[in-house]
Amino acid sequence: MACEGILLLSFYEGLKQNGCPICRLLDNFERKTIDNILHELVLDPSIRQKFIESLGLCKYHAWLLVDIAEERGDRLGAAIIYESVLKEYIDNFEKILNKEEKIECFICEYTDKFQEYYIDLYTDCFKEGKIKEYAQSSSILCHRHLRMIIEKLDKENIKKLIDIQKLKLSKLYSNITKFIEKHDYKNTEPITDEEKKSIETTVEILKGYKSYYNTTLYFQKKPKRYKLFLL
Ligand SMILES: [Zn+2]
Ligand SMILES: [Zn+2]
Repeated sequence: MACEGILLLSFYEGLKQNGCPICRLLDNFERKTIDNILHELVLDPSIRQKFIESLGLCKYHAWLLVDIAEERGDRLGAAIIYESVLKEYIDNFEKILNKEEKIECFICEYTDKFQEYYIDLYTDCFKEGKIKEYAQSSSILCHRHLRMIIEKLDKENIKKLIDIQKLKLSKLYSNITKFIEKHDYKNTEPITDEEKKSIETTVEILKGYKSYYNTTLYFQKKPKRYKLFLL
């Protein structure tokens, strides 16, 4: 994948975020997909079939759909979809009870594909000199997405990326310690937004943002051959 043209829009969109660019792009993708289903595809027979096959998506995406329907103030689409899933469940109750549970959520599958796509995009853009733009941005890669990019990057750029990441981490550390220190009763300085958000950012870089991504599967598929030993 070349780091050019329309693909660059996603690259820059990710860098605008105050968290992991890949996690945020995936969260955006999941939300848009669900929004589109609720808006346009409620009566689409193939979408309905996918919901029925998975008994209403995986747990994460099922609840995300409910939340998005609530946010939009439009619960009818969600009701229409889940009415057909519930009907199928009731009509085949005994059969489903006896079947081995295997949930194949199509939004998980799409998100997995998009995760690989974004990892490749970032890797290629970093290889083509855009690593400086990551350094200057407010975004910070989460632990797992950093590892995925490192797996695909060349030695020279791994070194650059690790150095940039360390700088970003020490800035984050300084924000979280300042947040604690400013709780001292002698302190008169106000707590900045960045310091306040340092808790969420720390959780995000350690665990990823709320979006689903099947990292476990990703790492199972690939041989464990990290290049970190080259540093
Ligand atoms: Zn991430
Ligand atoms: Zn899912």
